[in-house]
Amino acid sequence: RAAAARQAAFRPAVTRDGHRIEVAANVRRPEEALDAVAAGAEGSGLVRSEFLFHDRADPPSEEEQFDLYRRLAEGFGGLPVVLRTLDAGGDKPLRFVSHPAEANPFLGLRGLRLSLAEPELFRTQVRAALRAGRHGDIKLMLPMVDGLDDLRAARVLIEQERAALDAPSIEVGIMVEVPSAAVMADQLAEEADFFSIGTNDLTQYTLAVDRQHPTMGARSDALDPAVLRLIDMTVRAAHARGRWVGVCGNMAADAMAAPILLGLGVDELSVSIPNVAALKAQIRGLSMARAATVARQALSCGTAAEVRMLPGLRELADA
Ligand code: PEP
Ligand code: MG
Repeated sequence: RAAAARQAAFRPAVTRDGHRIEVAANVRRPEEALDAVAAGAEGSGLVRSEFLFHDRADPPSEEEQFDLYRRLAEGFGGLPVVLRTLDAGGDKPLRFVSHPAEANPFLGLRGLRLSLAEPELFRTQVRAALRAGRHGDIKLMLPMVDGLDDLRAARVLIEQERAALDAPSIEVGIMVEVPSAAVMADQLAEEADFFSIGTNDLTQYTLAVDRQHPTMGARSDALDPAVLRLIDMTVRAAHARGRWVGVCGNMAADAMAAPILLGLGVDELSVSIPNVAALKAQIRGLSMARAATVARQALSCGTAAEVRMLPGLRELADA
C-alpha cells in the first residue's frame, strides 16, 4: 500500500482528458529539496531566497550562496528550480541595508526595486546562481516587477555577470504580482522567459487590502473576479508569445482555485510540500474541458462569493 502511494506521488498530474500540469513545491532551504521530491514535486516553482539574508548583520557571501544554490540544484536532481532573487523590503527590512523611512513599505523599495538600488547585492546573488546553474536546472525569477524598466535593468546586470563568468545562459522570468505587470503582460512576455503569478501580492495590490490586515482578510479572496481577470490576461499574453505561466501564491493550494487556474490555462502550480500530493490527485480527477467552462463562468461573476458558489466548481473542487 505504501509503495503504491509512493508510486502515485511520482506519476505526473494529467487531467482525465489528457492535459498535463506541472506540480512543483515552494521551498526555502536546500534541505527541503529531498522532501519535495519525495512528495512528488516536479521541481521548485519558487525558492524564497530571503531566509539567507534576514536576521544577520552582513550579507551572505557569494560562496555561501553558491553552496546553498548548488545543493538546491543537486537536491532536485536536475528538475527545474526557480530561484527567486531577494524579495526584501516591504515589511521585511534587511539589517545591512539602510532603508529609507517609508510610510507605506509595501508600496516602496521592495523586491527587485531594492536589488536594483543595491546592485552589488544583486550581482553577488546572480553570480552565485549562475555558477550553481552548472549543477542543475536553475532559473532566475525576479520579484515585484512593475514594468519593463526594471526587467530590462535587471537583465543587463544578469547578462554582464554571465558574460564575465562565461557561464551558460539561464532563463530569467518574472513574478506577476503587481497589477501593472498583469496589464502589461503582452510586452513583458517579449522580454521575460516565463511568468509566475504571485497571487498573495497580486490580490493585495489589486483589491487594496493589506495581505496581513488584522480584520479585512475576508475581503481579500484571490478568487475575486478582478484578480481572475488579471490572471486570464497574463496567461493569454504569455501563451501568445510561447511563454509558460505558473502560479506560486497560496491560491494554487486552494482546492476551489486550482480548477479555475487550470481552466484559465496555467501550466504549472507551485505549492508548499504538504499540498503537493493532494493537488496532483485533484488534477488527475478532473476534466480540463469542465475546468475551462467553469473558469469562463468565473470571469463573468460579479464577486468572489459568486465564484465560490458556481454550481460546477464544487464538484471540481471535490474531484
Ligand atoms: C506571492 O506574492 O504570491 C508570492 C508567492 O510571494 P510572497 O508570498 O513570498 O510575497
Ligand atoms: Mg509576493
